[in-house]
Amino acid sequence: MPTNKTNNIDSLGEFGLINRLTADFNLKNSTSLFGVGDDCAIVELNDKESLLITTDLLVEGVHFNLMYVPLKHLGYKAVAINVSDICAMNGRAEQITVSIAVSSKFPIEALEELYAGINLACDAFHVDLVGGDMSAAYAGLTISITAVGRIENNKITMRSGASSKDIIMVTGSLGASYMGLQILERENEVFKANSSVQPELDGFDSLIQRQLKPEARHDMVELFAQLGVIPTSMIDISDGLASDIFHLCEKSELGCQLFEEKIPMEDKTKLTALEFNISPITCALNGGEDYELLFTIKQEDFDKVAGNPSFTPIGYMTSKEEGKNLVDMNGELIPLKAQGW
Ligand code: ADP
Ligand code: MG
Repeated sequence: MPTNKTNNIDSLGEFGLINRLTADFNLKNSTSLFGVGDDCAIVELNDKESLLITTDLLVEGVHFNLMYVPLKHLGYKAVAINVSDICAMNGRAEQITVSIAVSSKFPIEALEELYAGINLACDAFHVDLVGGDMSAAYAGLTISITAVGRIENNKITMRSGASSKDIIMVTGSLGASYMGLQILERENEVFKANSSVQPELDGFDSLIQRQLKPEARHDMVELFAQLGVIPTSMIDISDGLASDIFHLCEKSELGCQLFEEKIPMEDKTKLTALEFNISPITCALNGGEDYELLFTIKQEDFDKVAGNPSFTPIGYMTSKEEGKNLVDMNGELIPLKAQGW
């Protein structure tokens, strides 16, 4: 509808904007099983399997800073975050396309480094680079990767499948990537002020690694298959636990109760957070870029995952009316907010 009044993008937020722009689209092909609104789109393949498609865009100055991000790591991460979205549907990634827009000021050797990282990730996640596109850019570097994967029809795991009382679980640990970013940003500021000062990165390797070279948890998808567990809902943690549990709750039309004391965080993450005067739980809730899997399982499946060091139960789903809450260390119920709480 044409209107004289223009609205600022910030007033809607990312998800509001996506909803507004895509609201008028209907799926015309019966093979388009699911469109916008999950970690991947789902396309009909055959009776046994479906195709999964996902895409992510990384923009210099918005998603990465080449002052401290090595191009090889960037290439690896760009692939990992796409594979992660395929894992979040319980699927296996098989192909990627890579498109880049780059300023002619970039040396060829720098782009070769980027592609060396992409190649490493292709090996690590067992995916094939099958195409892409290349353009000159006015400035900087932009990378867009699309990943295609496959999933058995009876194992498709969407954000919308959780039921009340399902147990909420997370793989690995949270918050390290965010603290890695804080370290890199701090040392970059020091370097900008005085380029003769060497950065103090010693002792923070594990955090920096989680920020620069995150892994897609395809190993967890294998583990689900081995254990005979099909999560009822799942998402990968890209924006932070608070934001991503919100998506599971909204799409499943439920509430949740998380327990702060259960949320898995490495000691190094907590100590570094305190050094930065950040409350450790904030790193897990609002930090993001962990690329761990956040999922729900039926209570009767709990025996299959209980005690497995790869998974931590952190709460359970409730009714929508009960809201989305965190029980803090003092036993108090705090309403979760997607951004901060
Ligand atoms: P994720 O964090 O898992 O990559 P996003 O938050 O980027 O997911 O996207 C949420 C949903 O919105 C996905 O289904 C995605 O395909 C869709 N989406 C994002 N941006 C656009 C866009 N510009 N046009 C159409 N769909 C979009
Ligand atoms: Mg995702």
